[in-house]
Amino acid sequence: MIRITDILDKIYEYNPEGDSDIIDRAYIYSARVHEGQVRLSGEPYLSHPLEVADILADMRLDVESVAAALLHDVIEDTPATREDIEETFGSDVAHIVSGVTKLSALPFSTKIAQQAESLRKMILAMADDIRVVLIKLADRIHNMRTLKYHNNPKKQASIAQETLDIYAPIAARLGIFWMKYELEEIAFYYTSRQEYEQIDALVNKAKNEKEDYIKEVNEKLHEKMEEMGLECEIKGRYKQHYSIYQKMITQNLEFNEVYDVIAFRIILETVPQCYAAMGAIHSMWKPIYYKIKDYIGNPKPNMYRSIHTTVVGPKGERVEIQIRTQDMDNIAESGIAAHWSYKEGTKIDESTGELFAWIRNLVENQENYNDPAEFLENVRIDLYPDEIYVFTPLGEIKTLPKKATPVDFAYMIHTEVGAECTGAKANGKMVPLTHQLKTGDTIEIITTKGHTPSSDWLNFVKTVKARTKIRSWINTREKERSYSLGREMCEKTFRKKSQNFNTLVKSGEIKKVADTYGFKTVDDLIAHVGFGKLTPLQVLNKALPELEKQVVKEKNILQKLVGRRKKKDTNAIIVKGLNDILVKFSKCCNPLPGDSIIGYITQGQGVTIHRKGCLNVMKMSKERQIDVQWSETFTESYPASIKIRTEDRFGLLADIASVISKYKSNILSAKTETQETGVGLFYFSILVESSDQLQKIMSDIKKVKKVTGVKRVFRNE
Ligand code: MN
Repeated sequence: MIRITDILDKIYEYNPEGDSDIIDRAYIYSARVHEGQVRLSGEPYLSHPLEVADILADMRLDVESVAAALLHDVIEDTPATREDIEETFGSDVAHIVSGVTKLSALPFSTKIAQQAESLRKMILAMADDIRVVLIKLADRIHNMRTLKYHNNPKKQASIAQETLDIYAPIAARLGIFWMKYELEEIAFYYTSRQEYEQIDALVNKAKNEKEDYIKEVNEKLHEKMEEMGLECEIKGRYKQHYSIYQKMITQNLEFNEVYDVIAFRIILETVPQCYAAMGAIHSMWKPIYYKIKDYIGNPKPNMYRSIHTTVVGPKGERVEIQIRTQDMDNIAESGIAAHWSYKEGTKIDESTGELFAWIRNLVENQENYNDPAEFLENVRIDLYPDEIYVFTPLGEIKTLPKKATPVDFAYMIHTEVGAECTGAKANGKMVPLTHQLKTGDTIEIITTKGHTPSSDWLNFVKTVKARTKIRSWINTREKERSYSLGREMCEKTFRKKSQNFNTLVKSGEIKKVADTYGFKTVDDLIAHVGFGKLTPLQVLNKALPELEKQVVKEKNILQKLVGRRKKKDTNAIIVKGLNDILVKFSKCCNPLPGDSIIGYITQGQGVTIHRKGCLNVMKMSKERQIDVQWSETFTESYPASIKIRTEDRFGLLADIASVISKYKSNILSAKTETQETGVGLFYFSILVESSDQLQKIMSDIKKVKKVTGVKRVFRNE
């Protein structure tokens, strides 16, 4: 816990004549009335006003401000009254403390009303006594620093959001950038932790990778400044996570596209030196002309002064460089506080005039706004220059980032409206979806039922909501597609191997495969098959390693079984009345000795032997048909085809083959096939001596377990 003596030491350094007695008394008073109160951190409550007072001492404020900081919570949180404070510390301190107390948030019906009221009170307080707002900001800084002790994440997020909505913009408007950055950085963590952590990881990675690069730029800058005889201080620093994040969102960039993650700052003594330094840098590295900003010649309304330039540095990377004097650097950090004198009586000086003109103008006009939202809009246009305000057809205000499009607007209304948005009207006129909305536009979205987002939209949308919703839709759709494709592929492959994929999913076999491949779910596994990252056969082999072995075994059996085809002996046929005639066996019905046969005289190709009843014969002209018969002395074998139906295919091949070989019949070819119903079909082409032998083989095959039917087939039935 910081001690009061440390604070007094600080004040003595910048204001040795200040009345330290009032601070001592305020400290004792605060300690007494807060006695027994504890912060969520477990520390005594007094630690909080002490920290706030310390922040004000760092900002070199006057003793009344520091005393008021020590007392800032006593009216609200202790029995002490404004009158008590006035009596003990005088009207100045009492005025500030009661001003801070009035700024405490009151419950309002809507967020807009609450925000409007908070801002209105802040602005009134600013106009009345800027010190009230400075204490309030310091108070918020310390509360944000200790937000981790809140154990309610919802409350944390809502405090952080309020900080982003109200306190950080006020700090920026007052030019107190260290406060703006610290408030935003902590608030960003509590409102969007995931994004914060992502950017944090990326920044840390970049820090490791860019260490040498930063060193190089630093050295080159030093050399150049020395060469020019310009004494200076050079700082290289990383941008705040929140600034990087804002840039990524508003300009639709990836992290590695944000080139000015590191900003260099050159601090010199005089204004002419600043311009000289800029010239020297531009002679070394080519400037990007439209990125040169001279806020020395044209200071920002919040008194910020500096030269900004972006150059193409070593390795072709863009480097952002800020050039300013020490004085300007102090102002850039502390803004109005730098102009705020600890000396009494000087409330507003020349350079703060413009800032106060803005505040005065708002205050003078606030009576004209009956509606808090209307007032808010006016304040916001000044406070948040990067935002636009558009209206729904019902007159509701929507806040969007600059350059937002109808698609952003549609997503802001509702995710479904965004997804189904097909057109838009701005102020009654049709505009393309890429149209950039302007403040004051009334936007009407045209939707078409069943319409879906397009990936093109990602090229122009500006809001996080639209982007994440469109991305997530695309991902989901791709996943769905891959999933259904993957499922189909798996089912087909498994079916070919007589397996039922869905049954294996139900029995948990496929889950095991998903586990071995490191997928969280079976669906993930299937989607990856659909993406083509995994083949269905890989899944099958993992699911049923036994099956894989079986397939290999079968292949071997078949290779051994399939013998060489022997030439058919046409001497087995006697053609009535003709000798030495060329005889061929038809391929359509593969007649066997014992079958009743008929010959057909072909043109110049002799006689073809068919089975009687072969369909082809019936189509042939009767004139060309000729009686033939089997010779009594045939010893050769003839091909015959059979089709075997089985309940299940695996393991059966060997059994069937052994029946066939028992009859010393050779297998010419074998083919297996599986039907959707799980029925296995075998097609064998075997060599037999007669139809009798074939009948015997067939009836023996029929006896094999799980065989449900055997049929002789002709052609490739
Ligand atoms: Mn407080």
